[in-house]
Order: sequence, then structure tokens, then C-alpha cells
Amino acid sequence: MAKKQFKAESKRLLDLMINSIYTNKEIFLRELISNASDAIDKVYYRALTDENISFNKESYYIKVKPDKANRTLTISDTGIGMTKEELEDNLGVIARSGSLSFKKENEMAEDYDIIGQFGVGFYSAFMVADQVTVISKALGSDQAYKWESKGPDGYTIVPAEKDSIGTDIIVKIKASGEEENFDQYLDEYRLRFLIKKYSDFIRYPIKMDTTVSRLKEGSEDEYEHYTEEKTINSMVPIWRKNKNELSPEDYENFYMEKRFGFDKPLKYVHVSVAGAVSYNAILFIPEKIPYNYYTREYEKGLELYSNGVLIMNKCADLLPDYFGFVKGTVDSEDLSLNISREMLQHDRQLKIIAKNIKNKIKSELLAMLNNEREKYEKFYQSFGRQLKFGVYDNFGVDKGILQDLLMFYSSTEKKLVTLDEYIARMPEEQKFIYYASGESNERIAKMPQTELVAEKGYEILYLTDDVDEFALNILMNYKDKEFKSVSSGDLGIDTEETEPAKEKKEEELFTYMKEKLADKVKDVRASKRLKTHPVCLSNEGAISIEMEKVLNAMPTDQTIKADKVLEINTRHEVFNALIDALENNKEKLDLYTSLLYNQALLIEGLPLEDPVEFSNHICELMK
Ligand code: ADP
Repeated sequence: MAKKQFKAESKRLLDLMINSIYTNKEIFLRELISNASDAIDKVYYRALTDENISFNKESYYIKVKPDKANRTLTISDTGIGMTKEELEDNLGVIARSGSLSFKKENEMAEDYDIIGQFGVGFYSAFMVADQVTVISKALGSDQAYKWESKGPDGYTIVPAEKDSIGTDIIVKIKASGEEENFDQYLDEYRLRFLIKKYSDFIRYPIKMDTTVSRLKEGSEDEYEHYTEEKTINSMVPIWRKNKNELSPEDYENFYMEKRFGFDKPLKYVHVSVAGAVSYNAILFIPEKIPYNYYTREYEKGLELYSNGVLIMNKCADLLPDYFGFVKGTVDSEDLSLNISREMLQHDRQLKIIAKNIKNKIKSELLAMLNNEREKYEKFYQSFGRQLKFGVYDNFGVDKGILQDLLMFYSSTEKKLVTLDEYIARMPEEQKFIYYASGESNERIAKMPQTELVAEKGYEILYLTDDVDEFALNILMNYKDKEFKSVSSGDLGIDTEETEPAKEKKEEELFTYMKEKLADKVKDVRASKRLKTHPVCLSNEGAISIEMEKVLNAMPTDQTIKADKVLEINTRHEVFNALIDALENNKEKLDLYTSLLYNQALLIEGLPLEDPVEFSNHICELMK
């Protein structure tokens, strides 16, 4: 019998896992029971749409059976089973999503828990097993097959005998060593405890032969023992339970067991709504960002049940894109069971639920922001960018929902602040909410354009994300205060200083320079905002310089240009040098003009159009 190899990547992952990424080996049981439950769900669901299949609830269950003598633990289910091909496809390849190469490319820490993220649950059995045997007979098939593997070397598949439809997973438990006690996975009491702990709310009975002792009849101290098959789990799904019966650990276990994430959720919400549309939901806000979150590969959605029966793993219609990070489960009696995906989209009930959920998430986030600031900041680190995209999406239809949740780094507070907090600190005479865009907080802090606003003592919001300025543009204002870039034409600040008497020559100078830079800037002007720096760029019109950068980084062949203005500080010595050159040496003035313009580009973080020429011009002046 030829042994088949696992796909190369699977082999490495398996190695990694056996060497225990999961410190918590006991969860293998939860993983196998979950798979068993999913397999029964699949029959249940099939029965709804196929008249030839009947689903008689009594005959569907999961059985856990330890055998100390043979050191095996068998998890059997009466679920849908697997064909030979399915055994091959489902168990011969792991981490289909390329998790390992991802991990390698991104140089993630060895202990980074990728298992939970990629649903390789079945393989967790190898953490406690020397060998795993799967005997399965698929629904609608006459032949059963046996899949067997001792670990990374490979596996075999051969025809096998099995009477009923379903799957037996036989885990050959490792010998206990000094560091690990594997015997516990053969111990009836321990297993009962683990089932209760992790799988209590599984909808199907998890049965186990349980030793029962009772006094022998007529005796006062003699016991007799016998075994009785008992159902260990309560079978009530967690979302149907009473909130005050549940502990935070219960919710965390649920999150893990559903593989919603590999982190500990930052927050959970348990909603029970009775009314026009009744539903129960448990929603989670993850702490960490899934590795593929901001890619097309990421699928948002909530698990959707209709009265306890799973309809869909990821119902996207339940979440707006900007709350796409939320995980969880929704169960409603008011949804029709055999509703198709297309119909679901237009389902009135579903729309109502989606709307409620959206509002609920918003209010939970707001509460977190107000009462658990540190947590919120963690959340914002991961998903703030998503909220800002949300503001911008669809021309801002939902900006009203999201604007209170935004935070930006503040020049005066030196931390993230909300727009509300900004407004509350505004001096009465301040007309605008000021912001500056750039690559990093450090770079923005040094931007010459911020000088006047900063000198006035006004707070400036630092925008460092691509999407920031676009989001503010769509918002336009917050509580009637307009947003204003420190680089925009009119800052709305009255400078008390009397403007330095305009030199006669000033106009002539700027006209000359403007002509020189004709294809590059719209205008050359005396700056009102510069205090100590000689030069900067500002912009006119809707497209800022930062937006120009972002838009041009996108893969289109369009080039977008902001209308730039070169501002010169007329109080700076450089200005005198310019006037001097205007009067005495036009060649020099040409060099100065080119130099100042290029300096302004550099300060702005824009590429020089001709670095060689720039360098030559400097040399020219040094001669
Ligand atoms: P996941 O469950 O996250 O997809 P697993 O590695 O646990 O990952 O399982 C891989 C696949 O193998 C499952 O998606 C399912 O199709 C199949 N499978 C696992 N266990 C069973 C089972 N007991 N009965 C039927 N199919 C199963």
C-alpha cells in the first residue's frame, strides 16, 4: 500500500503544530467535536432541501469513547461522512490558504498562532496522538474508507468496513512522559470535564459511556458499578442562554471554538431582541487584525442561524463593510430556513436585524471609547483605518455614524484625540479644525506650513494615513466647524503683525519667479504662515499635495496634480538675497528660484523632478 505524501507545505505546518504552537493541547478535543457537529449540520441542512433525506433528530449524535487498554480515544459522529476524494482533499492538504508561506514572508514569531486562523483544526489531534485513523462513510455512498497517518511522513487511504453513515476518528494517544500527561485524554472524568468546558453548547448530544456506582441492594457499604451512556453537554447554544449564567470565559471559549480569531476578543456583546423581529446574537470585536484584513481575500460576515440551524457561515449582508471586522453569530426564528442567498439579500427581516446590529456595534464602540479608552485605542490601532474608509465610502452616506468614532494624533496633546475633544478645547476665536498631512507625526511636526497655526497655540490634527484627508474632505465639517489644512490658501487667521511694508520690488520678483516656474506652480507669493522657514508649498483647490501623492501611487495612468503655490517668507534673509539677485544678477536668481522650489518639494516629501539638475545648481552657486 503506497503511502501518500502530504503537500510540502502541509508537512511543515504539521511539524510545527506537533511541536506545539498550541500550548493548550487539550483543545484538540474541541476541534474534533466541532468538526463532528459541523458534519451533522450538513446532513440537517441537506435534509431541508432534499426530500429523500429525512432528519430524525434522535439518530444524530456524537460519541466520545476512551479505551485505556488500547490507548485510543474515538470520536464518532453520524454526520455527512467523507468520500475517498473528500478524505484526500480535506485531510491530505492543510492550510490551503498558504498560511505557511505567509508566515515565512512576514517573519512572524514562531509562536504566532496560525492554527486558529486557518482552520486546520483536525490536525491538532497530532498534538496528542502517535497515529490518527479516520474511518468514514459518506452520505449516499456504499463504501467506507480508512485514512490513516502517523504524522508528517504521509498518510494512507484504503477501503474499509463501516455499517452506518458518518465518521469515526480514532486517536492513538501518546505515552505520557515527564513533561506531559497524555493519560488524561483517556480518563473518563477528565474527558467529561473537557467536553463541558469547551463543547457544552454543541447542538447535538455528545454521548459517553459513564461509570455509575450505586449501593448494592441490601448492602450498606458495597457498591456495584455499571456503565450507562449519558449525554454530557447541555446542548443549549450559548446565545440562547441567559447572560448572567455566562462568564467571560464562556464567551472567549465560544470565540475560540468558532475560530473567529486567534486573539482574545477585545469585547463581546450578547444581544437578545424580541419584537417585530426576534433574534439572539453574540458579537465580538477582535483585538488583532487578521493578516489579510485589508485585502480582497478577507470575507466579512456573521454566522447566521435560523432557529438553531446554521444557514450560512458568513452572511455578509449583516455587516456594513466598515464594521467588517466584527465576528459573531446571529440566530433568528423569523428567518425562513430554506431561503437562498439571493433572496436573503432582499429579506426584510434580515435588513432589520442588520440595521440593529450596525447601531449596536456603533454604540458599543462609543461606550468603549468613553469608558475604556485604552482598549479603544488598541481597537483603533487595528481597525481605525477601516472606520475612516467607511466615512469615505459611498460618498459619505454613513459618515454620521462614524464621525464620533474617529481619532487623530494631536499636536498639542501628543496622543490620539477625538473630534469632540478637539472642539471642546478650541479657543473661541478659532474658526477651523486644523490638520496637517504627512508621512509620520515626526515629519509633520517639522512642516513649515504648521508654523503660524502652531504659534497661535491652535491644535493641529496630524493625518498620516492615506485615507485620512479623503475622509475629512467627505466629512467637510464636524459640529459646524470646518476642517482646514494648514497648507491651504486661506488659514482664516488674522495676523496682528502689520504686514511688512511691501517692497516695491516684491511684485516684480514674484512675477519673475512665477514665470520661471510656470509649468510647476500656479503662483509665487509672500507667505503669511511662515515664521522661521524660508519657503514652503501650499495648495489651492480641492486636491491637496498629500492627496496628489496618494492618488498618483494608485495603479492608473492618470496623473493628478494639486495646484501648488510657492510661498516665500519675506521676513527671511533669503528674501533679501532674492531681491539682490533680481537687481544685480538674473542668472543667480534663476538658480535661487530652482533651488527654493526643489527645497519646497523635498520638505513636502515630493520627489525632485530632476535631482541631477538640482545638484548641479547647488554646485553652480558654490563656485
Ligand atoms: P475546518 O474544519 O476548519 O475546515 P479541519 O482541518 O478541522 O478544518 O477539517 C477539514 C475538513 O475536513 C472540514 O472542513 C470537513 O470538510 C472535513 N471534516 C473534518 N472532520 C470531519 C467529520 N467528522 N466529518 C465530516 N467531514 C469532516
